[in-house]
Amino acid sequence: MAIAQDSVVTIHYTLKDDAGEILDSSVEAEPLAYLHGHGNLVPGLERELEGKNVGDKINVTVQPQDGYGDYDQRLVQRVPRRALAGIANVRVGMRLQTQTAEGPRTVVVTHLIGDMVTLDANHPLAGKALNFEVEVTDVRAATEEELSHGHVHGPGDHHHH
Ligand code: ZN
Repeated sequence: MAIAQDSVVTIHYTLKDDAGEILDSSVEAEPLAYLHGHGNLVPGLERELEGKNVGDKINVTVQPQDGYGDYDQRLVQRVPRRALAGIANVRVGMRLQTQTAEGPRTVVVTHLIGDMVTLDANHPLAGKALNFEVEVTDVRAATEEELSHGHVHGPGDHHHH
């Protein structure tokens, strides 16, 4: 069965940056199951998997516009430390939830200079090329319930919603 719209696809994958550093991998863990054609993977990877079969191995480089988007300087803001008054021990690399007009958003503290804190709301992989090595390990048709939810139900994955 080839991967098509509404297939439930199981893959093992390794994601590397352009320096060859592993950013994420399923290989030492559980494979990833996803519902194809519903935006559950970055678009550039989903597109390359279309038509593939069990046992196929592919290497795909996804550019930022087909991945997590370009890095947006407008999502970086500097605020006085007192704006984070409820948070103890603010440090570089800390992830915080902030409220914005578009709802809650995760930001990362990227600089601490004097009394000013720099917060970056870009996805950690924004602006990066994503180099995927993928092996297709299973393909099946989705159930009606999976289609209505827009995601895969695994074994033992009983109703969380
Ligand atoms: Zn569900």
